Amino acid sequence: MKNYIVHDEWSVIEEGFHPEYNEITESLMSLGNGRIGQRGNFEERYTGHTLQGNYVAGVWFPDKTRVGWWKNGYPNYFAKVINACNWIGIDIVIDGELVDLHQSKILYFRRVLNMKEGTLWRKAEIELNSGKQLRIESYRFCNMAFDESGAIKYSITPLNFNGEIVVAPYLDGDVSNRDSNHGEKFWNEREKETAHGEAYLLMETRQSPWDTVPVFQVCTGMKFEISQNGKSFDFQSFPVKSEKYAGAEVKLSVSEGEETVIYKYAVNLSSENHHKEVLMTAAHASLKKIFTLGFEELLKQHKTVWEEKWRSNDIEIKGDVAAQQGIRFNIFHLEQTYTGEDARLNIGPKGFTGEKYGGVTYWDTEAYCIPFYLSTAEQKVARNLLVYRHNHLQKAIENAAKLGFSKGAALYPMVTMNGEECHNEWEITFEEIHRNGAIAYAIYDYINYTGDTGYLAEYGLDVLISISRFWAQRVNWSSDKEKYVMLGVTGPNEYENNINNNWYTNYIAVWTLKYTLEAIEKVKEHAGRFEKIAGQLAFDEATETEQWKHIIGNMHFPYDENRQVFLQQDGFLDKELLTVDQISEHRPINQKWSWDRILRSCFIKQADVLQGMYFFEDDFDTEELRRNFDFYEPMTVHESSLSPCVHVILASKLGKKEKAYEMYVRTARLDLDDYNNDTEDGLHITSMAGTWMSVVRGFGGTRVKGDKLHLNPVLPDEWESFSFRIGFRGNLIQVSVLKDSVAIENLSGELLELLLHGKEVSVAAGETTVAR
Ligand code: BGC
Repeated sequence: MKNYIVHDEWSVIEEGFHPEYNEITESLMSLGNGRIGQRGNFEERYTGHTLQGNYVAGVWFPDKTRVGWWKNGYPNYFAKVINACNWIGIDIVIDGELVDLHQSKILYFRRVLNMKEGTLWRKAEIELNSGKQLRIESYRFCNMAFDESGAIKYSITPLNFNGEIVVAPYLDGDVSNRDSNHGEKFWNEREKETAHGEAYLLMETRQSPWDTVPVFQVCTGMKFEISQNGKSFDFQSFPVKSEKYAGAEVKLSVSEGEETVIYKYAVNLSSENHHKEVLMTAAHASLKKIFTLGFEELLKQHKTVWEEKWRSNDIEIKGDVAAQQGIRFNIFHLEQTYTGEDARLNIGPKGFTGEKYGGVTYWDTEAYCIPFYLSTAEQKVARNLLVYRHNHLQKAIENAAKLGFSKGAALYPMVTMNGEECHNEWEITFEEIHRNGAIAYAIYDYINYTGDTGYLAEYGLDVLISISRFWAQRVNWSSDKEKYVMLGVTGPNEYENNINNNWYTNYIAVWTLKYTLEAIEKVKEHAGRFEKIAGQLAFDEATETEQWKHIIGNMHFPYDENRQVFLQQDGFLDKELLTVDQISEHRPINQKWSWDRILRSCFIKQADVLQGMYFFEDDFDTEELRRNFDFYEPMTVHESSLSPCVHVILASKLGKKEKAYEMYVRTARLDLDDYNNDTEDGLHITSMAGTWMSVVRGFGGTRVKGDKLHLNPVLPDEWESFSFRIGFRGNLIQVSVLKDSVAIENLSGELLELLLHGKEVSVAAGETTVAR
């Protein structure tokens, strides 16, 4: 755990430079706008620890699979979000010395991510080897108002000299991925252009052997202007071109104490959104547009978008700055990663903040992110995320067929870009099949929240039937147990592999079968729809549903009669049952222990049985939940970022306020404090939605039952109050939880009837109801 980020309600602040943590800070201070994103790298060269990262949404490369021992069924490639052209670069040369903070003496340093306005600011005063001292100040953003663009205001002030300096703003397409499987670079240059103070680089991803993978093009353009002492300055620029590189050099006379400012504007246009033939022309037009508007106007428009986002999505926590900073940090990054405007995109576990986890879509989207978008965005956003999976159904059926399943059974991939499986560790790719259940659950979650039952007839039912067919084939009858069993699986707790009868997986499989049966009946209410879907899927309703019903009634669920708890898997009690506080070595265990030791231990990476009890809470009474929580929580190391949020929700429900708060801090500040020692790889974007859930569903106790909103808020003792805003069926409401009262404000919409601590409450539009 690290503790170097200054606590502040609206900003993430690094005070004084911490070069040893630079890659962590670069992750924390990433910027994005849903279309492009980048790590918090420096504009000038830096030879110290750094992970350069610029990303363009939807642009990826199929990196040929690299494994020790090939298993049939492995995918050919791992889809990677690729590091794209560096458009922030500005070289500064003084007396032949390239400015580089790693080679300089640092006299002053401060870096601030301003979450309110979505900007990154940095000020540094340095002494070069020549003894010359200068101040650098940079201020940049990825524009929320024009999502293919960004702008930088970069200033240089000599502190103890007069003379000549060279500044060289550039575009560098000669970039690579640190996690490239075979050390290869993914980009080829297609075209470049330079003009006065302007440059363009059109890059193309390398042709791959797989014809299902497109070749992407990205055209990056930059244009700059310079001012000295506040006055625009007519400079001469010399084009600089080399392979995969285009820029311009400008010689400037500078004087002690006088500021020179370079305004650099950039656009990144991809062939996903523009025809390849016009990419260069479109980049010219787009750059011209933003250049004409100028830095201040662009910044103003960008800030307005953020203001609007915060107005509808902010969570305010009074009396605990660290907690406040944590939740805003999580909301900020979610908003930067996915705006919901493009149904082809999804939410990657690292978003635009790093390379790890390659492909974009995991079960994280359905299990953790959907609730966030359901409450904070228009209904179409969560719907788009579901339709994304609907569009991948055929690929999921092919994916299952590769593993030997038949008759339209679908197994959605563990990781995907285009619907094809990209993951290649057998114990996860083939065995972590619970992901299929989360995709079915998300359909339920969406309909439950929005009331959009028509979704089933339009898109939902064929996905549900295909997933149910998979479960029906994946189980087998055990004549020994006289029950159905599911062998050789990995549950959400990845610290157990190839186990039999993971309780969570068995439960979600049976739940999917039940829900599909209900869905069939609902769809039958839409004239002709069921027949059409059944025809398309060659669905033999009578035979298939009879088998499903038999499985529903006869599934094996491991259980300990003694303790009256569900068992994570068969044989779990054979383990030495220790608790986390008995681990004397340093953690995380996944970085310190051998895999063999982890597998044999009882320690749990992330909520597993408890994940199931969270999803299906109405199936269990509070005492059952308490027994299971008390059994599993002490064994959980939470080394998956997705874990603590579930524990906050359950602990809040059980009245375990202290535990809930401890887990909240862990999820909210996971990256800010680097709990799992891996923030340098990028941020845990999908678990940020879990952090949001832990406030709204956890402390806020928000649920939707029978078309009504239920609130059961609890205020952590550490907080004076907290408030959150959510949208629900056309209403925007603010819930404020204080020490002795709860206020519900209906900000827009119609009269809202809800249940607060089980009691009916009505709040008219524009009014506030206070309950003590
Ligand atoms: C977790 C998975 C998750 C993945 C991506 C893993 O560490 O165990 O549940 O899907 O990260 O976030």
